[in-house]
Parts: sequence; C-alpha cells; structure tokens
Amino acid sequence: MPHAVSLLRAARLARSVKPFLARGGFKRERCAGCRLVPSHCMCAVRPSVATRAGVCLLMADIEPLKPSNTGWLIADVVADTFAFGWKRTDTDPALLALLNDPQWQPYVVFPGQYAAPERVVLSVASPDPARNGTEEKRPLFILFDGTWAEARKMFSRSPYLDLLPVLSLQPEQITQYKLRRSGRDDHFCTSEVAALCMNLAGEHVAEQTLEAYLAVFTHHYLRAKNQQPIAWDGAAHRRLRELSVPRPS
Ligand SMILES: [Zn+2]
Repeated sequence: MPHAVSLLRAARLARSVKPFLARGGFKRERCAGCRLVPSHCMCAVRPSVATRAGVCLLMADIEPLKPSNTGWLIADVVADTFAFGWKRTDTDPALLALLNDPQWQPYVVFPGQYAAPERVVLSVASPDPARNGTEEKRPLFILFDGTWAEARKMFSRSPYLDLLPVLSLQPEQITQYKLRRSGRDDHFCTSEVAALCMNLAGEHVAEQTLEAYLAVFTHHYLRAKNQQPIAWDGAAHRRLRELSVPRPS
C-alpha cells in the first residue's frame, strides 16, 4: 500500500494544472515506489523498522513533488509516518485529530531560539520500564518539510502547534547531504532530522537505518542523474545490508 508521502504526492499531482517538471529537466519515466528512473530503482532495498515513535510531516506545497524530497524516505522506513500538506488556513481535520490522539505526545521539532523559552525541550520523555510502557505516550515528531523560509512560516502560522513542546536539536555533525545546497552547514535534510529524533527517542536501529538509507538514496539519485550504474556492493549498500541482518542482542 502506498505510504503517506506517496499519497500526498499523488493528490498534489492530481491538483497540478501543468505537469511538474523537476529541476534539471529530469523528465524520464519514474518508478512509483521510489521516484527514481527504473534503471536506478531502489525498491529492492527498502527497509522497514518497527518503532514506538512516529513522525508527522507537515509538507510545503510542492515538496511532495520534488524527486529529492527525503520525507519520502522517512515514510519508507517508519511505518507510523503521517504526512499533510501545510496550508495557512483550512487545516486538515485529520491532522488535528492526530495531534489530539491520546496515544501520542507530539513534539514540534524546531530550533529553540524561535520559540518561547518555556516551550523548549532538549530531550524526549523515555518509557518507564516499571510501568511496562502501557501508560506512556508515544513520541510523535512533527517535522516541517520544505525550505527554511517555508519551515519558519509553518512554525509561526500554525496556531494548533502553539501549545506543544518545541524539541530543539543540537546537531554535532555537519550534514553530508549532497542533493541540495542550502548554503548553511548546519541545515539538515528532513530524513537526517528524523534520524536525530529517533536517537533522542532511543530508537537506535531506526536512527541508523534512516542514515544508511539516505546514503543509498543519495547514491542512486546522483548515479541516475549522471547516468552511471549503481554500485550495489559499495559502502552505502553494504552498510544498509548490515543493518537489515538480524544481529544477536
Ligand atoms: Zn523503485
């Protein structure tokens, strides 16, 4: 079954008046499962990790249409990924219902300096083993998927988020992400942000899988763009395969 970002992409495409042309004139036929050209399809290595934490993507208007969008990768890996197209007015009732669902503790993931200090948290409440996890809420990470300017707009113009805690990430590594040049070394792509959130939630398999899968996607994307073959035994694929092999705990 198509995941949340795939459904959002299909809905957005259906509303397009003219066909969306990806930057770089990348107009060849694409696989519906991974958005790559069929010769560079990566559906065969799509991982899936069972997580307690969920992800809610608020996506800027054309973000689901961009072939380089990495929210798609999060939806591949994390089954409980929800995705909504952001609008300043006319908020989707399903989004409001999700935020009010008592099984979830939503966190708005955004730099703390833009929020009132009393809203800012640096960590996620972890399950208390003594309570067997049954009464604990599951963390739901709300990620803004778009440019920095779009993310700031989504953060400041979504009144339904105003009472939620703001999870401020402290990334120590510099992004290796090569697909977009944002001009900011500390600007992480959306799937890297999700990996950092999974780390804070103690979901280390999901964290590492998201990182390894992003590296595989980056490899496929750039090889497709340059019309070069896939290195199926290269470092990126080997790392993802190692994570997918059940290891003794
Ligand atoms: Zn594919």
